[in-house]
This record gives sequence, C-alpha cells and structure tokens, in this order.
Amino acid sequence: MTLDETTSQSLFERAKQVIPAGVNSPVRAFGSVGGTPPFLISASGALLTDADGNEYVDLVGSWGPMILGHANPRVVEAVQEAAGRGLSFGAPQAGEVTLVEELVRRVRPLQKVRLVNSGTEATMSALRVARAATGRDLVVKFAGCYHGHVDALLAEAGSGVATFGMPGSAGVTAGTARDTIVVPYGDREAVRALFAERGQEIAAVITEAAPANMGVVTPPEGFNAFLAETAHAAGALLITDEVLTGFRASSEGYYGIDGPAAGADGWAPDLMTFGKVIGGGLPVGAFGGRADLMDLLSPLGPVYQAGTLSGNPLATAAGLATFAGLDDAAYERLTSTSASLQSLVAEALTAAGVPHVVQTAGTLFSVFFREHPVTTYQDAKDQDTAAFGRFFHSMLEQGVYLPPSAFEAWFVSAAHDGDVLDRIASALPAAARAAAAG
Ligand code: PMP
Repeated sequence: MTLDETTSQSLFERAKQVIPAGVNSPVRAFGSVGGTPPFLISASGALLTDADGNEYVDLVGSWGPMILGHANPRVVEAVQEAAGRGLSFGAPQAGEVTLVEELVRRVRPLQKVRLVNSGTEATMSALRVARAATGRDLVVKFAGCYHGHVDALLAEAGSGVATFGMPGSAGVTAGTARDTIVVPYGDREAVRALFAERGQEIAAVITEAAPANMGVVTPPEGFNAFLAETAHAAGALLITDEVLTGFRASSEGYYGIDGPAAGADGWAPDLMTFGKVIGGGLPVGAFGGRADLMDLLSPLGPVYQAGTLSGNPLATAAGLATFAGLDDAAYERLTSTSASLQSLVAEALTAAGVPHVVQTAGTLFSVFFREHPVTTYQDAKDQDTAAFGRFFHSMLEQGVYLPPSAFEAWFVSAAHDGDVLDRIASALPAAARAAAAG
C-alpha cells in the first residue's frame, strides 16, 4: 500500500465504492457540514489521531461512551484480560451479572435488566415489552427525540434524521407509521389531548430522559413526572430512554437529576433504556425496569428477545472498568470541564457577535446557533446551520473535532484537562469569526 492510500481522502474514496456514502452510520459522512471526514487511526485520552497524522481534541467521544477518555488504561487492561479468557461464550458469564447489578444499584427504577448490543436494540425491545404488557399497539414519541433506527421510532426523529432534514425513513410500513404518534416536545396540552382521545389504545410514551439528539433540551420542570402520571392514568407505560444521558448527565443519568428529588414515593418510569457509557466503547445496550414487566421476557414469559453476543464478556469488562473509574471525582471533573467549555464557547461567540444559546442537561450540553432558547424540535431546526458549518470547519482545521452537526450534544470526558481546554480556547475566536462571516 502506498502512503497515499492511507490518507483520509483516499480511504474515503475507497470506502464510497463499497460502503453507502463511505460510512457505517450517516452523520459520520459530514453530509451536512461538507468535506472529507478524517479517518481515525488511534485515540488516547482527549485526543484523536487521523490517517493523515493530524491530531484533534475530541468533543465527540464516540457519541458518548468514552466518558473516561480514549484508551483509558484501566478499561483497555480489563478488555485485554477478558479477551485472553475468550471473546464470546453465548452462555452466561459473571461479568454480565456484575454489570447488571451495578446498573440496578445505581438507578432506582431498575429492578431487572437485560443486556443487548446497541441502544436501538434496547428501545426496540422495551417497546415490545410495553406492547405485550398492555395488549395495545400505539406508541407516543416526541418530535426531535431519537431512539435509534427502530422502525416505529424514526418519525420526526433527531440525530442524523434531523441533520439530514428527513421526516422519517422510507422502508417503514404504513401500519408501523400509523402506530406511532408524534407530539411536540414539552407540550403537556398535546399529550393530554392525545390521551383524552386515544388513551386506551396507547401502550407507551417513550421520551429521551432529557432530549439530546436535536441538541440538548432541558426538560420542562416536572415534565417526565407528568408523562408518568398521564400514561399511568390511562393504563399505559412510560419508557425513558437514557441511552445518551445514562451515567453521562449525572451518575444515574437524567433520572438522577429529575427523579429521586420526589422522594421514594416519587414518579418512576416503567422501563428505561441504556447504552453508550455502560459499554465503555464496546457495543452494549440495556433495557430494564419493573420486574413484573421484565419477567414477560422469554423464557419466563411470551415476549421473545435474544442475542448471540448479548452480555459479551469483553463488553461487560469494558463497562465494569468504566464504572470503576466513574467515581464522584470523575463526575466533578466532568461537571467543571463542561461548565468551563460552555463559558469559553459562549464568550467567543458573543465576542464575534454570533447569536447562540448554550443548553444543558446535567454535564451534557450543546450550542444552538440562534438567539432564543430551544424547547421544541421546530426551534432546533430554526437555527443557522450554515454558521455552524463554518464554525465546525474552522475548529477542525485548528485541531478540534466537534460533532459534525448542529443537532448533536458535545461530549467531554474525564480526560479533558486544562491543557485541552487551552487548545480549544485558542481555536475558538477564529472559529467564531468564521461563523460570523456568513
Ligand atoms: N437512544 C438515544 C437517546 C440515543 O442517543 C441513541 C444513539 N445516539 C440511541 C437510542 C441508539 O443507540 P445506538 O446507536 O447504540 O443504536
């Protein structure tokens, strides 16, 4: 192989011949910001290295899992040790028990949990359990919330569906689309009206515990509790999707911010979904909640759900090692790094006169290129994505790798330190000026 064949550009050209758009997940294609995505060859701590020898400060973190930073020695060692004992058994192993015990210990509504291989599998399976438990078909989701590429949950979804301005996805049957009702996020009146009309047909409401796939939207005070109450009054279930927020927004996920405050008798979701952080960078998802619901799963009950690689020993080892590193000090660091970065970005954009809003959910945050706060998907769409694109490319050229979309959260890790923040700070003024120069 010649040197040229290992550049990002040449790899991208080769990839496009054999992989649709050259990528295995749409947002990676830089479709909305343009340009060639760097092909990465290694990562360590807060830094990425691409095939061209460029180094970047990473603010994507593999879209959430790399909360301790890349190639964290403890996590890598745990995976190597597990690999030496076998890559997959397709049979029970201790790591999955310990990882699920850790989830149940940290998140009060989790009584029983099953591990799967992605967030998509988790939400798909939770939905199936909810439908089986209620004997109903309808599912209510919110515009701008993304729950993976589950047929029933792609309507007005966030993440790549938002990035590319798609209303949903082709290939979803009319019947499936009819069973999904989309409501504006945060709109209590719309939820009430829907339940008044069709409450007895609704199996579940699914919501991101805090929306983070149209950018980060802080849930209105008491909104998740309202959803639980409204769903329960109609015999429906609430599924909170913590795939992105779980153990990221706080040590319990967004539920930890919003839930236990109501005390032991407070509201709780019936089912929850997790992914990303709990696998420390390996493919893992989880769904769980009330034991009576989870016991509907085969072979105890009639709901079939399975996975050749579910509970994989490398993935559980990575998840457990990640949890071991996620102590109070790590969350304090994440909180302060996130806050510092938010201030730096806001200062630079303000100095350049670029309209922007920074929104948070625990340690999670994102930046909207518009003047007013975002509470709905419609608001999120109403931002200057071209300004974001200019900002993004300037940051990239200066060695800072942001999510390549104005509709995504920015991710810091416990490995982002003062030096890394300094590098970001020195890149920001030129990027802000580029954003302003529209
Ligand atoms: N739910 C949420 C809230 C997510 O953010 C994501 C992925 N970004 C998913 C589900 C799907 O997870 P996965 O990509 O692992 O299938």
